[in-house]
Amino acid sequence: MQLHWHRRDLRVSDNRALAAAADEAERRGEVVPVFAFDDLILEHAAAPRVRYMLDSLAELRERYRDRGSDLVAVRGDPSTLLVDLAEEFGAERVVWNDDYSGLAEERDGAVRAALSEAGVEHESFCDQVHHEPGEIRTNAGDPYSVFTYFWKKWRDREKAEPYREPEASELASIAEDDELPTIDELGFEEPAAEVQTAGTDAARERLAAFCDDAIFRYAEDRDYPTREATSRLSADLKWGTIGIREVYEATEAAKSAAEGDETESVEEFQSQLAWREFYAQVLYFNQRVVSENYKEYTNEIEWRNDEEGLQAWKDGETGYPIVDAGMRQLREEAYMHNRLRMVVASFLTKDLLVDWREGYDHFRELLADHDTGNDNGGWQWAASTGTDAQPYFRVFNPMTQGERYDPDAEYIKRYVPELADADAAAVHSWHELSADDREDAAPDYPAPIVDHDERREEAVAMFERARGETDE
Ligand code: FAD
Repeated sequence: MQLHWHRRDLRVSDNRALAAAADEAERRGEVVPVFAFDDLILEHAAAPRVRYMLDSLAELRERYRDRGSDLVAVRGDPSTLLVDLAEEFGAERVVWNDDYSGLAEERDGAVRAALSEAGVEHESFCDQVHHEPGEIRTNAGDPYSVFTYFWKKWRDREKAEPYREPEASELASIAEDDELPTIDELGFEEPAAEVQTAGTDAARERLAAFCDDAIFRYAEDRDYPTREATSRLSADLKWGTIGIREVYEATEAAKSAAEGDETESVEEFQSQLAWREFYAQVLYFNQRVVSENYKEYTNEIEWRNDEEGLQAWKDGETGYPIVDAGMRQLREEAYMHNRLRMVVASFLTKDLLVDWREGYDHFRELLADHDTGNDNGGWQWAASTGTDAQPYFRVFNPMTQGERYDPDAEYIKRYVPELADADAAAVHSWHELSADDREDAAPDYPAPIVDHDERREEAVAMFERARGETDE
């Protein structure tokens, strides 16, 4: 027998370690699929992600049951559990797919040591990314810190084909009596947000719908939140309910069907997949970025401790309509459109002058797709503290962002019903309206809590002080 330990790969198709175990089934025995609820990892989890994970696990278990097998679900420390399960099933080998966060690396090290000590063979595989951290390097042999150069090499490298699904005969014929734990049993409340449907079927539907249509307009439309021009695959990629080779293959098929500018659009989408791998390698080689700034000089920044501003931002009550709409989408859907993530992150750090780590913690609590590499990379990009980040002097203007990317205020009104009856012009000039005009247009919506122009100047000065460029 062999054990396949599922982690962030909640699928049977295009799963490299699972396919590798299936390839060896005749020689080393059938595969027992396992999932371990690890309390140490759960300590860092949050309700929307746990919901997504549990729904994906329920589907995964059905997949195995359809094949005459089952998913063995256990709770505790994987380094003890896997040794015990190997003994129980008489497994000579345990396989899994690599994960690149510091916490995962630590856990996997402990599991490797425990299995070795128990005399159980183990092997892990690169599955989560096309090119594992360190595979793409500068000509001098260093990991990349600038995306454009990373992307050029990433794009030109050959990509593996999707891995095959295991045959029913390659899986252990087992039937588990225990139910999967409920969210409550794992120590979380049901999330307030309506989390999108989880699992491989839903992910495949999203991929197919996207590659049939929106991918061809992606470059042009991806920044407009009402155009629904993005894939919505982020939580699927986070939990591995779909394999990245399957995603890439679908995009290549779209590229073959593309005409004129559409090819560029497909490549623009592929470059987002590469951003994900870029940030995975930034994290892998700089585990400190989880809690520290990537750029050293930015450690000198004196962020403000503005509890009230931070709370208004979290509640979507800043009086900046586009910011508030984004924050409320996050609360309602455990998701936020990328353009909005950039806008709200810029607002927190450059308008409220609050440390990006406060925002990162809030996103981590509320996003179903929270991914350490991407979330951290996104925040440090917006805060100008990261690698290849937004320059500190380029501060998003939340009013022009709203006007440009949501001209009819359709997205804003969807999430901020207090503005439903205000016309778009009033919404986009909210900061300039008199108190009386605001009262007439939307009496229940707050006035701006800060003056953007003043705060922009303060933000630039704050960075310049940190750089030692002013005497103030
Ligand atoms: P699409 O546009 O369809 O992109 C396809 C996939 O490419 C995404 O699912 C994602 O895996 C990857 N991708 C897209 N944009 C980026 C990017 N800028 N950086 C890295 N990968 C990218 N993405 C997450 O997956 N998890 C996070 O926790 C996360 N936090 C973010 C925080 C901030 C402050 C910012 C600015 C961005 C963050 N992003 C995060 C990146 C991006 O916003 C989301 O990946 C995207 O909005 C998800 O929607 P989608 O799947 O429809 O994206």
